[in-house]
Amino acid sequence: MEIDVKKQDENSMVFIIRDAEVPFVNAIRRIAMMKVPKLAIEDVYITKNDSAMFDEVLAHRLGLTPLVSDIEAIDGLMTEEECKASGLHDESQDGYCKNCGVAFTLVESGPKRVYSRDLSCSDSKIKPVYDTIPLLDLEENQDVELEAIAKLGIGKEHAKWMPTTVCVYKQYPEITFNENEDIPYAAADACPKGVLVANKEEEKIEITDVENCSLCKSCVRKAKELGSRYIKIGYRENDFIFNIETDGSMPPKEVLLRACDVLNSKTDEFIDFSKGGSE
Ligand code: SF4
Ligand SMILES: [Zn+2]
Repeated sequence: MEIDVKKQDENSMVFIIRDAEVPFVNAIRRIAMMKVPKLAIEDVYITKNDSAMFDEVLAHRLGLTPLVSDIEAIDGLMTEEECKASGLHDESQDGYCKNCGVAFTLVESGPKRVYSRDLSCSDSKIKPVYDTIPLLDLEENQDVELEAIAKLGIGKEHAKWMPTTVCVYKQYPEITFNENEDIPYAAADACPKGVLVANKEEEKIEITDVENCSLCKSCVRKAKELGSRYIKIGYRENDFIFNIETDGSMPPKEVLLRACDVLNSKTDEFIDFSKGGSE
């Protein structure tokens, strides 16, 4: 298997995987979305909310506010399930367990628009990913006071724990031309992605960026309308273009790395089972 990064920035990455199988690539995709733990606000204790926003809506907005969850930030933090299983779960101090929870407080008075940056956290490494997410509006003489507890969770339980906003792959497109057919120049204009360009001078249709092809076959349909089978759209069975974007809670490479860890631990369980025979 070969992997080439096509483009990458802080929160997104596109890479090409060659010589792989659909079940493997799909397993990585599903685990990246559903099984990589990240932090999100789970419990909200509102002592005062004079704003027009209902408590439930405010709690929901807080839950969906992305929080920094890279390995460094969540170092030492367990999921509530792991914490309870380890016997370390202790809510006797401050009303929440510090082994599996992080507390945020929000105390603001109007008139003002309250933003995510106004949340203050008990742990200096943890904060909202973006400072300028509007949470609620306070008018003159209106106050809000609350405590929110963030916990680790996985996307399978709730979308607020999904680190990825995009996590998709497609098979590597292949575009070929049947030179025995008439050239349907208008079919190039039917491509919504600008992959095909009609070149009447040189009597051909050119491919600008095959990797941008979405395999939609609009060009093939248009060519058929014009009575031509000039364009053929296919894909390489074992090559993939993988596109991942995160909500900023952790870099895409970290999501993939942690997805591989989850896959590894699952295969380890299977190896242990297999070594132990039919137990
Ligand atoms: S399949 Fe769709 S995206 Fe690809 S070349 Fe044809 S029209 Fe463009
Ligand atoms: Zn705990």
